[in-house]
Amino acid sequence: MLINKLIISGIKLWVLELSTAPADKLGVPSVKLIGNIHGNEPVGREVLLHLIEFFVMNYESDDKVRWLLDNTRIHILPCLNPDGFQISIQGRCGVGPGRENRRHVDLNRSFPDYFQMNSVPSQDETEAVKSWLHNNTFVLSASLHGGALVANYPYENVKENIQTEINAPSVSPDDDVFQHLAMTYSYKHPSMHRGESCNIKERGFPNGITNGAAWYTFTGGMQDYNYVFHGCMEITLEISCCKYPHASQLPQLWTDNKAALLVYIREVHLGVKGLVLDSVTAQPVNNVSLRIAGREIPFRTSPRGEFWRILLPGDYQLEVTAPGYVQQKIPFTVPLVKNSQPVWLNVTMSTFEHQHTTKTVVTDTTEQYSTTTIRESSEHSTKTLEVLDSNYEQMAITAGTDTATCNLITMLACGLIMYNTYLTT
Ligand SMILES: [Zn+2]
Repeated sequence: MLINKLIISGIKLWVLELSTAPADKLGVPSVKLIGNIHGNEPVGREVLLHLIEFFVMNYESDDKVRWLLDNTRIHILPCLNPDGFQISIQGRCGVGPGRENRRHVDLNRSFPDYFQMNSVPSQDETEAVKSWLHNNTFVLSASLHGGALVANYPYENVKENIQTEINAPSVSPDDDVFQHLAMTYSYKHPSMHRGESCNIKERGFPNGITNGAAWYTFTGGMQDYNYVFHGCMEITLEISCCKYPHASQLPQLWTDNKAALLVYIREVHLGVKGLVLDSVTAQPVNNVSLRIAGREIPFRTSPRGEFWRILLPGDYQLEVTAPGYVQQKIPFTVPLVKNSQPVWLNVTMSTFEHQHTTKTVVTDTTEQYSTTTIRESSEHSTKTLEVLDSNYEQMAITAGTDTATCNLITMLACGLIMYNTYLTT
């Protein structure tokens, strides 16, 4: 367990990373969950604190929780806007103080935008999130809001010079995946999937999901930024009709969202993952850009050469590009198996001078923690490369003492692990 502090002008934004996977284990995907980007929408913050406690208290007794923590790095930032939260008012269901940060900027309008110039200045909180994304290879994310009941997915903006009809969706190349992710959440929620509007004057949302732009468009959102600039699939979860309900409603709101959050996190294990290594040195290749053919939004490898991409079952081609290397195009299939593991692809990249030794890659699609087979084209012989094993190893404990988020004492009592690292803006 890790605690990261994203520091904004002296205020700490606390991130708790929950995982029992050893730090040096390759191929473990990272998910992040963010609450309270709008300070007056604190239900997400409370639900995420409950989620932390739930993970910690049920690791030993719940097989699904244990599997998730053994195989996933789950980063939780309960509150991205502490200044706004401080001035927000309990019981204020609609518009109220605290949506913006202390500089009166809506943080969910302050990110670089894919479609349009963004005139909203970047904030310390924005920079902390950008740095956090730069320093981690996140695969899946959700930002928790209040004021509606719907799962919203990219894009939330449109091209400036394109005249669209009102409520026209702005469709991303991974629309199938985003709709699946949004519906995974809405259908596990007891009422979101019914798509009823919180306000009888407004239309509802079929299946409890909506394309962002089909609801309303705006510039500088965190969701599109995650997807376009970092290849991280983020959706926006509106989980409470009342933005800041009375505390007595929190237990029910937690109950409503618990199972949905768990199945949503599980979806990070859908699709493809693997390693990109130099064919001669077997070291990770720098500046790798990956793309699924036909889907123009790229994603990148981690510093250790790992990559992940959420995909629905089907046939795909992975395109791998890096400066100085021969481009690779690798066909693969994501099988139609419920709760299957991602396809594991090992990609060996050859420089132009070594391209005669280029290897093709064949993958074992059954279990990512077993083995991956590399077939060397020059010899037509097959050798097996041990990629990962599931050796469970406890990390050493170095306890942080500054416990701004709740429940940390509980976690220590459970013998779980935490130590401090610092990410500064
Ligand atoms: Zn909001």
